[in-house]
Amino acid sequence: MTAAWPRRPRLVAGNWKMHKTPAEGAALAREFVALRAADPAATKCEVAMCPPFTSLGLVAEALKGSGVHLGAQNMNAETHGAFTGEVAGTMLVASGCRFVILGHSERRHVMGETDEQVAKKLRAALRDGLTPIVCVGELLAEREADKTAEVIVRQITAAYAGLDADTAKSTVVAYEPVWAIGTGKVATPEQARDAHRVVRATLDQVVGAGVGAAVQVLYGGSVNAGNAATLFAEDDIDGGLVGGAALEAAGFWKIVAAAAARP
Ligand code: PEP
Repeated sequence: MTAAWPRRPRLVAGNWKMHKTPAEGAALAREFVALRAADPAATKCEVAMCPPFTSLGLVAEALKGSGVHLGAQNMNAETHGAFTGEVAGTMLVASGCRFVILGHSERRHVMGETDEQVAKKLRAALRDGLTPIVCVGELLAEREADKTAEVIVRQITAAYAGLDADTAKSTVVAYEPVWAIGTGKVATPEQARDAHRVVRATLDQVVGAGVGAAVQVLYGGSVNAGNAATLFAEDDIDGGLVGGAALEAAGFWKIVAAAAARP
């Protein structure tokens, strides 16, 4: 059995991917902060904005004092050194980040990131004081071959095996079926719920009893203002990781408001 919704805080994170210049990002952040400030109920849902590295500085300034968190989309597991083009977790913290997205499907399937690299980055993020959002999810072919649970179990096990329970409880998981990311095809609430239950059961098995119920599990994959409330009505869905719909303040605000409105 997993815990019901009210036991876990709600979280909506926006993954901007490779979009927005620093000035455009700061403008989006300012617009969103103004919308959120106008509705006191919005504080019922935590929010993170995850721009490209180049926009972190200006977006951090725009978010200052708002209660909206800053996140990054990736990091290197090393602390420093000769790793051209890479960014360390400590640099993200110094830039104002609280969150870091790890193992996004675009990094796994476009950049070739492995389960082992995601596991290393997870430990590095925790060492550096970041809250990792660990992404897992199956390809369309894997869903069609009835391998969704197998993929989730493999990815969660590889990332979390060996972590202690209290540390694992401080992380966030995003279930993102790859076939739903950026495609306009959204998982049904039942498909998402079932996958989230696999995530939680695997955390219990790999890390320890009770971990699955404590970890925030977000759904990601074509979440928008129109489908957010239905998805977030599921007890096992603690919020969303949002790509395309996070690039426009009013639409992103509606998604956050849907999560905040959940009793
Ligand atoms: C994502 O980038 O994590 C994502 C879920 O994208 P989209 O919402 O555009 O499908």
